[in-house]
Amino acid sequence: MSDEIIIVGGGFAGLSAGVALAEAGKRVCLLEQKPHLGGRARSFADPTTGSIVDNGQHLFMGCYHATIKFLKTIGTLDRLHFQPRLNVPFLDRDGRLTRLDCPDLPSPLHLLMGVARSRSFTFKQKLEVVRLGDDVRRAGGEAAPTANESVTEWLSRRGQSEGLQRNFWDLLCIAAMNEDPRIASAQLFERVLRLALFSSPADSRLGIARVGLSDCYTAAASVFIEARGGQVHTGRNVKQLMIADGVCRGVDLGAGNVLEGASVISAAPWQQFATLMPGDLLRSEPFFAGALALRPAPIISINLWFDVPITDLEFVGLRGTNIQWLFDKSRILSASDHCIALVLSGAHEHVSRSKEELLAISLRELGEVLPSVRKAKLLHSLVIKERFATFSPSPEAELLRPNARTPIRGLFLAGDWTATGLPATIEGAVQSGYTAAKEVLG
Ligand SMILES: Cc1cc2nc3c(=O)[nH]c(=O)nc-3n(C[C@H](O)[C@H](O)[C@H](O)COP(=O)(O)OP(=O)(O)OC[C@H]3O[C@@H](n4cnc5c(N)ncnc54)[C@H](O)[C@@H]3O)c2cc1C
Repeated sequence: MSDEIIIVGGGFAGLSAGVALAEAGKRVCLLEQKPHLGGRARSFADPTTGSIVDNGQHLFMGCYHATIKFLKTIGTLDRLHFQPRLNVPFLDRDGRLTRLDCPDLPSPLHLLMGVARSRSFTFKQKLEVVRLGDDVRRAGGEAAPTANESVTEWLSRRGQSEGLQRNFWDLLCIAAMNEDPRIASAQLFERVLRLALFSSPADSRLGIARVGLSDCYTAAASVFIEARGGQVHTGRNVKQLMIADGVCRGVDLGAGNVLEGASVISAAPWQQFATLMPGDLLRSEPFFAGALALRPAPIISINLWFDVPITDLEFVGLRGTNIQWLFDKSRILSASDHCIALVLSGAHEHVSRSKEELLAISLRELGEVLPSVRKAKLLHSLVIKERFATFSPSPEAELLRPNARTPIRGLFLAGDWTATGLPATIEGAVQSGYTAAKEVLG
């Protein structure tokens, strides 16, 4: 039998697993069904303008320790830019600009001081934030969220007013978890708050790629794997995992092509993993229940090209609008066009709207928060709907996420949907890749 480790899927999870195994001296064969690597975090050239566009703007954070290690290993960490400290501008519907600008103080003072001096909050709301911060840091007792509580239920129980929820916590929840706070798991949200906001000032910083997303990792990770004797193939669709007598011996590529390996890591998203498994096994083995029961949460990205710059902010959170974030892509990528990217996360109620409707909504809302837009000429637009952007992180979903080690010998799971303790993020995907690699090596 071959000593190769087969990896199915070339997103952050598959590539980080491949890099970790190659680094440990294993021969890796990574198979990606699409003609390109990158999965749900990728970039491409817009066919009309030639500008580099991401499938959706991605934010990194200082607390993405596994991701930072991965990018350092493949030599591309310098393609991300991290803020010196957490500094988030917000624009209200009436055009008022405020900031959460956290000073360089030890945690949690950095955040509390940032909130205390921000005009984003009333005095009462500032006290509410301090109280919740205290709950999160004490971690436990009746302040802690219960396993079946939603973010909204927990925040309300902990005395967070409706206004503060709407204008602050809900924005964070949707940005970090891609889900409506009435649906999202409070336990997961509390963990995100602890890691991202209440851990250290360095962990709270936001990071943005200064190049297209794919250029941050796909080619460099392939080169790393191939330089250590491995192979990375695109355009290779795995039809099924070869499982017999409780052992996975390889993958079936269809048309009589099979590939045998010492172990297989599936780094495909949950709904695609379900199609790789023999149906009877998938339904009879409770371990795999998540692959059938997790639900998706969509993200919509609206890219707009204007004839003139419309803002001097690199990015800004929008409050009171359907659109949640605006990124000045030309400023971020130092490009000469005037392209902005708008983000609509947790977009269940918008995903069935036509592209024309989404464009009309975004131009109307942009005109309200940024009057300069009304005078600018729209040259081109590109709406990207990612219907399966992430799994929906409800309290029920948390019980369904499987570990890397499966009941099938030789089969391991990676991917942002596995039991990482994090929402579906790049960091979750990379952590899952590292965990699966460790299990294979162990
Ligand atoms: C629009 C958008 C915005 C986002 N914003 C952020 C953000 O700001 N910050 C953040 O941290 N995260 C963000 N995320 C989430 C992040 O992109 C994902 O969590 C992460 O990329 C998932 O990586 P993965 O490797 O687990 O899965 P994927 O990237 O989906 O990779 C899986 C790969 O497996 C391949 N595959 C599937 N089936 C087969 C098969 N049968 N044979 C071969 N290959 C197969 C797929 O083609 C795919 O390339 C965002 C996601 C989207 C869509």
